[in-house]
Amino acid sequence: MQEFDVIVIGAGPAGLMAAKKLAEGKARVLCIDKKQEIGVPKRCGEGLSIKWMERVGLKPDPSWCLQEIDGVGLYSPSMKSLEIKFNRLSGYVIERRVFEKDLAKITASKGALIRTKCHAHSFERKDGQVIVTCIEQGFEVKYSAPLIIAADGTESLAARKLGLNTKITLDDIDSGYQYEMTNISFENPSYINLFFGTEIAPRGYVWIFPKSKTGANVGIGIGGKEEKTAKEYLDKFIQNHPGLKNGSIIEVNAGTIPVGDFLDEMTADNLMVIGDAAHQVNPIHGGGIGIAMEAALIAAEVALEAIEKRDFSQKLLSKYNGIWYKTRGNSLKKILKQRHMLEALDDKYFETLAESITGDDVMLIAEGKLAASAKMVIKKLVRHPKLVSVMLKYLK
Ligand SMILES: Cc1cc2nc3c(=O)[nH]c(=O)nc-3n(C[C@H](O)[C@H](O)[C@H](O)COP(=O)(O)OP(=O)(O)OC[C@H]3O[C@@H](n4cnc5c(N)ncnc54)[C@H](O)[C@@H]3O)c2cc1C
Repeated sequence: MQEFDVIVIGAGPAGLMAAKKLAEGKARVLCIDKKQEIGVPKRCGEGLSIKWMERVGLKPDPSWCLQEIDGVGLYSPSMKSLEIKFNRLSGYVIERRVFEKDLAKITASKGALIRTKCHAHSFERKDGQVIVTCIEQGFEVKYSAPLIIAADGTESLAARKLGLNTKITLDDIDSGYQYEMTNISFENPSYINLFFGTEIAPRGYVWIFPKSKTGANVGIGIGGKEEKTAKEYLDKFIQNHPGLKNGSIIEVNAGTIPVGDFLDEMTADNLMVIGDAAHQVNPIHGGGIGIAMEAALIAAEVALEAIEKRDFSQKLLSKYNGIWYKTRGNSLKKILKQRHMLEALDDKYFETLAESITGDDVMLIAEGKLAASAKMVIKKLVRHPKLVSVMLKYLK
């Protein structure tokens, strides 16, 4: 049985980034993934902002940064549009398959060992170690380490098997469905477009994330409790959209997005949980690549301390919990509150919002700036008392 300092379960953005940092710190690290190819299937709209790349020390690379983005078009249920033009390049639609493979190559070059088609299915604590049993390319293998980092996505098995409560209700999940389409047309390839409305995407939105002038990820996220499927809503939207309805579909992706609250406790003895496995995504738009990589860096820093002190107790590892909540969790909690506010609005109020507010106002709401949003609401929407009362209830 091969022994490591850390075994990272899952080679998505969270797992790879954690493994990279651990290897840079000279830890003996194994990162495994049940997929046979890193980054495939992508299950992602592939939007990544520059702000996130800067935070986690990534340089945009032309091999995976496909389309520059410098604005957002927001569409109300009746297709009134609100344009937000950023003063500078704000991000990219990336080719995630290439991005993740690149990250894997860098991680391996730092000394981490990566294994694909390696499905971890059981975890046993024994004498201060965790023995992980996997099916690797059809054969059972066992690996052991005193520390497991669970980066195995929304349906995380590792965290649950090692004793954390990772339960998530349908209320806290969005169901995502997406086509990568080609031979389609849209106004501006440097804009991402988002479409709202209860008939279009209940509790969510449809997105068009351009990857070129004629190709885009066209996807939808809806509340997990809806009777109709996300695919049904998406197909209907595409049929009603003149620029999309004759397009071709070259890839289909589906997945769940944990848009509810994050795990309160993300550590146990011998265990840290990061990324989607800890439900660390932006509760309003569901983006999680950047958040997952940032959490990975924080967790890896604490893990290196644990390795140095040979202390893998929950007490030491929970430093990660505290640092993450301070760095990101608490501000995401505010955004979660804003999401609950938006959910209380029906289509009529969205129309009112589309008529009354500007792109800058939308940014205040999206960034969870509660006090500034409240001021804006009072100033601009004072003629719509019901809307004001809904918003203030949540902004308080
Ligand atoms: C439809 C959709 C669109 C999205 N669009 C965007 C977007 O545009 N921008 C954005 O920032 N975010 C987006 N997200 C969210 C984003 O994809 C996730 O937040 C991000 O992938 C989280 O990274 P992660 O490494 O935590 O998890 P994942 O990327 O899910 O990686 C987890 C890995 O663990 C592996 N694994 C699971 N179980 C095991 C096991 N037992 N053994 C071994 N390996 C295992 C999986 O194969 C997987 O590779 C979207 C999500 C969906 C579903």
